[in-house]
Amino acid sequence: MKILNALTSIALCCTMETFAANPDAKYADYPSYAGEDLELTVDNSGTRWRLWSPAAEAVRLTIYPTGSNTKAERTIDMTRSDNGTWVASSPEKLYGKYYTFSVKQDGKWLKETPGVWAKAVGLNGERAAIIDFSETNPEGWAQDRGPAIAHINDAVIYEMHHRDFSEHPSSGIANKGKFLALTEPSTVNSTGEATGIDHLKELGVTHVHILPSYDYNSVDEANLQANQYNWGYDPLNYNAPEGSYSTNPSDPSARVREMKEMVKSLHDNGIGVIMDVVYNHTADNDDSNFSLTSPGYYYRHRNDGSYSDASGCGNETASDRQQMRDFIINSVKYWAKEYHIDGFRFDLMAIHDIETMNQVAAALKEINPDIFVYGEGWTAGDSPLPVERRALKENVAKMPQIAVFSDDIRDAIKGHYTDAADRGFATGKPGLEETVKIGIVAATDHPQVDYSKGNNSKFPYAAAPTQIINYVSCHDDLMLTDKLRKSMPDATDAERQRAARLAQTIVLTSQGTPFIFAGEEIFRDKKGVHNSYKSPDSINAIDWTLKHANAEQMAYYKELIKLRKEHPAFRMTTTEDVAKHIKFDKTEPGLISYSITDNANGDAWKEIKLIFNGSEEQREVKIPRGNWTIIAEDGRINASGLGTTKGGKLTVAPTSALILAKEK
Ligand code: CA
Repeated sequence: MKILNALTSIALCCTMETFAANPDAKYADYPSYAGEDLELTVDNSGTRWRLWSPAAEAVRLTIYPTGSNTKAERTIDMTRSDNGTWVASSPEKLYGKYYTFSVKQDGKWLKETPGVWAKAVGLNGERAAIIDFSETNPEGWAQDRGPAIAHINDAVIYEMHHRDFSEHPSSGIANKGKFLALTEPSTVNSTGEATGIDHLKELGVTHVHILPSYDYNSVDEANLQANQYNWGYDPLNYNAPEGSYSTNPSDPSARVREMKEMVKSLHDNGIGVIMDVVYNHTADNDDSNFSLTSPGYYYRHRNDGSYSDASGCGNETASDRQQMRDFIINSVKYWAKEYHIDGFRFDLMAIHDIETMNQVAAALKEINPDIFVYGEGWTAGDSPLPVERRALKENVAKMPQIAVFSDDIRDAIKGHYTDAADRGFATGKPGLEETVKIGIVAATDHPQVDYSKGNNSKFPYAAAPTQIINYVSCHDDLMLTDKLRKSMPDATDAERQRAARLAQTIVLTSQGTPFIFAGEEIFRDKKGVHNSYKSPDSINAIDWTLKHANAEQMAYYKELIKLRKEHPAFRMTTTEDVAKHIKFDKTEPGLISYSITDNANGDAWKEIKLIFNGSEEQREVKIPRGNWTIIAEDGRINASGLGTTKGGKLTVAPTSALILAKEK
């Protein structure tokens, strides 16, 4: 309703023809400001502000003593300056103070805003804070480095939400639901198994992908005792950490320092940190910080002037406009430099244009070549941005330094995400073999993969295997345990765990980069809730007693990750290598068999034979004679070998992987 009212007033001053032509045409005339000193600079000459607001008639800066509920100390009229910016200054370093901007446009003063570049904020992100960032650095920060990786597909990614990971009483963690949870060593559950950061080390993942950790809108930071939960896909202040994950949201330095301590702790333990970033939409429309600093500019609109909504969240941003593009690029650069972030996951990346994403990747690689970028190569609705310019999965070949999630392999392995009861290859549904093969070759061009039989994409869209993220489960939709319970209603959990092992064995041995959802390794669930974005901790928090109950599942995941990390054959970097070294045997319904040949990618193993039996019957296969080591068999795995075989006729147990390897 709010949107419609705003439009009515705009419509009075414009002809409908103008709208029909292009309601956004006027923004092309806005000057952009390329400097990185937007909004706040504190140095020896004092405190300076520079707000970008080209169409403003006046801009006011208000200084406050605290982050909320106090009266202004003073108000400064800002002066028009270069390239659509407005400036103000003070000779003192105003550390400890807070500020907001107010913009007057079309004869009306808009609500106060901390701006779009607040790097520190007070309670609930209402006012920007002036803090000394040099005092937020943990000891040894100057030497802090994330893990070095040559290629993105050397990573094993673990997606987690701060509360999921530590909130449950069984975590044994003191700073539950906080950044600091990941700084606590030697935490255990009631039966003595490692939790927290020690669990991550034991599992062997290389990177954690943290769900949105910038300041988001939904959780009331003034009422943390209410234990509110949200995924955080409702951005408020893009360049400051979320307050509810800090021990004191009223102290602007605390959230900054504690997030850095989290990064440092993970880095000290050899684990990288990937941030989930959501530049594609904001929590509010007219009241967002974008709208309150430069109304209209940062968003795309429909021909009738209403907000277009490719995000499904009420609006979509306009990366194709210079100042928005610069905002995204400078924002990720800031997180990489100030917080030492090792990777970025772009939510609904296809709302952004290809050119912006290429510039994002290039800017990050310049800071640190080990930083990588991946995203959801789709939108959640239509967009005025032409399809050929969208950073879509199908356009990923035009973005050589970026990877996309493979919904192909995801839905083929476990069944379609929109139908809880639907099964996939690993749960006994035949006919999906060719789509699983698309996943195995990471959507690259391969002479033995028939893309016309793919369930989803019909052509080899990746230019290299480094452009694909393979997964079967993430925070969205039914996570793996729940999907298996809904699609295998008559099975036992032991049978479902077999299916989970097969599913993840396919993911972790495929070309591309593997990605798992936190807690799957101990068979956690979310009580069947498919969209738990604001469900309570009782749904979302990982029950760490499951690590004891499902110790064998954990052991399997751990060994599977070890296998992948020890063998570069699973991590080829070119389409040519994949086409040359992966040789599929005849595919049958429910059965996929292939070899990775000739010491692929410098592997010590001459040949690796992988057979996936997705059916519920035992299957017989013929293996060439040789001195094979059995790596995986009948739901068990050991990277160093479970035994040996000379090949010949072998049986593959139902719902399991048989992996054999030979050195010559
Ligand atoms: Ca917040």
